[in-house]
Amino acid sequence: MLNQTTSDTLFTQAQALIPGGVNSPVRAFRSVGGTPVFMQSAAGAWLTDVDGNRYVDFINSWGPMILGHAPAVVLDAVRAALPHSLSFGAPTRRESELAELIIEMVPSVEKVRLVNSGTEACMAAIRVARGYTGRAKILKFEGCYHGHADAFLIAAGSGALTLGTPDSAGVTHGVAQDTLTVPYNDLPAVAAAVAANPGQIAAIILEPVVGNMGLVAPQQGFLQGLRALCTAQGIVLIFDEVMTGFRLAPGGAQELFGIAPDMTTLGKIIGGGLPVGAYGGRADIMNQVAPVGKVYQAGTLSGNPLATAAGLAQLRHLQNNPALYAQLNATTTRLADGTRQIAQELGLNYTVNQVGSMFSLFFTSGPVNHLEDAKRCDLPAFGRYFHAMLARGIYLAPSQFEALFVSTAISDELVEMYFHACRESLVEAH
Ligand code: PLP
Repeated sequence: MLNQTTSDTLFTQAQALIPGGVNSPVRAFRSVGGTPVFMQSAAGAWLTDVDGNRYVDFINSWGPMILGHAPAVVLDAVRAALPHSLSFGAPTRRESELAELIIEMVPSVEKVRLVNSGTEACMAAIRVARGYTGRAKILKFEGCYHGHADAFLIAAGSGALTLGTPDSAGVTHGVAQDTLTVPYNDLPAVAAAVAANPGQIAAIILEPVVGNMGLVAPQQGFLQGLRALCTAQGIVLIFDEVMTGFRLAPGGAQELFGIAPDMTTLGKIIGGGLPVGAYGGRADIMNQVAPVGKVYQAGTLSGNPLATAAGLAQLRHLQNNPALYAQLNATTTRLADGTRQIAQELGLNYTVNQVGSMFSLFFTSGPVNHLEDAKRCDLPAFGRYFHAMLARGIYLAPSQFEALFVSTAISDELVEMYFHACRESLVEAH
């Protein structure tokens, strides 16, 4: 093959060893084609691949690296923790410090349990909601992604949507029938589902701002309507803030929109780049969890000393520097407005959605308020655009159905570099 890259070689090797050559499907570039870039190192806004090519990163490990890569404040904390233990499997002071900080930053959380991923957090949260209410069903929204636990792989977003497997094989009919799905931003559909399943719905779980069908914002009144309905019907309202937590505001989307859910799931930023998730909420609900209550949930590596060191350092830095949120929002507003303008100037009637430091360019006229809108995108054109950007050193999510995450490392100069690449790539893609 001409111009065989080290990534090509490594991908061929990996495919013989690992399904699809990757440990999480969206990394395989299936929907955009081509060879995934194998990475070597990262610092600040920049990724360096195994061939020495450099890219400005707009994925940031799908959200956790809000301070950019290798921030000194997080690395120093991990270095300081390293000599003490890689894992105790016993309680540590730092777990309480992290719990206390989460509770301070996200006031609807009165008690919190640490886990190792967003999937674990969401999986445990619905179990707790079921234990608390004594009800079996949950309601989720089409195109939302809550990790890969069985109950959520019904009309799922993210990689499942990208690969055309929103309803995964291997999920039993029994599990599937306990997951109700309705379109996002459709309050009448929620009310109808609740009315059709009286006293049977334990929880409504949603991304309060969706990142997993591309970026979709809640319409005026949607979150308020869900809050009122859940209160009236004794349904546990769960905000999945795995992406939005500590990103859209120090207290996440619930702070931004002024709505207190009953439970919250967290991940990504909370681990500073190491594997951490958390679920928490009202104390009366969280007291259902073992060893206090009868809902079982556990983890060998939960509260891991390196992961809590990284997470605590990153959250403290965000809490102590609230101006970073204004900076992130301003940078992202510039990126989103500029992208919209470039598309318009090129005669492309495309949609840009943005909330805080997350945004998406949808290759469709929009508006994009739910999954069916997002599905109208011109996916082949998106694939060409993705590769044109990559060739110009801009690393975007390799799927139309993912949001971009901006880090504090994106400077004005890099925004200009992005605009230049965006204009050329949109021309090339059409
Ligand atoms: N919930 C949301 C909103 C997510 O975006 C994700 C992952 O992207 C998850 C849950 C699952 O988290 P993890 O991949 O850490 O299991």
